[in-house]
Amino acid sequence: MTADLNTDLNADLNVKTTGGAKSATTSAAVAAEPEAGSISPASTGPAYAIEVDHIVKKYGDFTAVDNVSFFVKEGEIFGLLGPNGAGKSTLIRMMTTLIPITAGHARIAGHDVAKEPDAVRRTIGVIPQALTSDLDLTVEENMNIYAKLYDVPAKDRKRSVGELLELVDLTKWRDAQTKTLSGGMRRRLEIARGLVHHPKIFFLDEPTTGLDPVSRVAVWEMLGNIMNQRQLTILITTHYMDEADRLCNRIAIVDHGKLVALDTPMALKASVPGSNVIEAQFEKFPPDWEQRLHTLDDVTSIQHEGAGMYRVLTGNGSRTTTELVEMAVQAGVQVKSLSVQNTTLDDVFVHYTGRQLRDELVKAHGFVMPPRPGMQP
Ligand code: ADP
Repeated sequence: MTADLNTDLNADLNVKTTGGAKSATTSAAVAAEPEAGSISPASTGPAYAIEVDHIVKKYGDFTAVDNVSFFVKEGEIFGLLGPNGAGKSTLIRMMTTLIPITAGHARIAGHDVAKEPDAVRRTIGVIPQALTSDLDLTVEENMNIYAKLYDVPAKDRKRSVGELLELVDLTKWRDAQTKTLSGGMRRRLEIARGLVHHPKIFFLDEPTTGLDPVSRVAVWEMLGNIMNQRQLTILITTHYMDEADRLCNRIAIVDHGKLVALDTPMALKASVPGSNVIEAQFEKFPPDWEQRLHTLDDVTSIQHEGAGMYRVLTGNGSRTTTELVEMAVQAGVQVKSLSVQNTTLDDVFVHYTGRQLRDELVKAHGFVMPPRPGMQP
């Protein structure tokens, strides 16, 4: 679906090393230095659904988003991946007209966010992190309120709401009070509600945070159905690697407000040296065990995750595993558990930022996106 854009951006991906960690930016965006007040790709028509060009957000002296550029093609599912506090919500809030941009530009469906906010709002659907459906209304009533707010003609409303509830598998709950729904069902209702006005571009801020694994998979499946049935571009933020890997055509990794890597999940994984990860837990190992693991053939990096658990990146999973077990036996070290997998986006994050995403998953702040103007929380 996005092969041509991916190829363009892959070719232009400009990776450089900073302080042990790698960082990458799209030189397509950086090289095409825009004239004041314009964005280069839009000058030949709205080829991109989303254009973010050298965008900055400052809160006082603090820079929450630091000179980020990326372009999202129509029909793409684009992921913003990063730990809490990375700047993902701030980026979405700027793109969706909720907060002013300090510097740089953003265009949504060809409309400048700062100059044409109303046109932008008409073309987008936004699903904030916080659940905002009214608990005392039924599922259908929650849908109808949005349909009326967005001026969906009365004659189309019932059919449109019915179709959307079917799409998110909530038809049989249409008369249920929203307070009786599980978190995952409520999230699905809100996604359906965000589609009542047929937006072209859909922004989802951490849509599965707080959901149990089964509900998360249900939300993913539902997004797949939506993409099959509607012509949509989706921008999704997440701190779940598996979610980004499964859903997104391309992923931008953001960290401390900066874009550190941007590519397809496959290309990002391929950019990490080593093709396999051995996760092994040892008991009764000597103090220099990590150094000894480094001497194994094909090992490119090792992380100690605590409690004797090591994550070993290697270019040859089977050979390193054999050698590792032999070395453990000879040293009298017990192997408690061992698994060999392909590299994941976890490893990509470590590669580009120098640390693990899961260490960063502490709630950095109690901040949630405010509801859309005119919406009751
Ligand atoms: P993410 O969505 O990746 O978790 P955010 O975009 O919410 O990150 O936040 C990025 C940074 O900006 C964080 O350090 C956060 O504390 C800060 N921040 C967000 N909103 C505000 C605000 N209204 N005032 C001051 N700082 C803020």
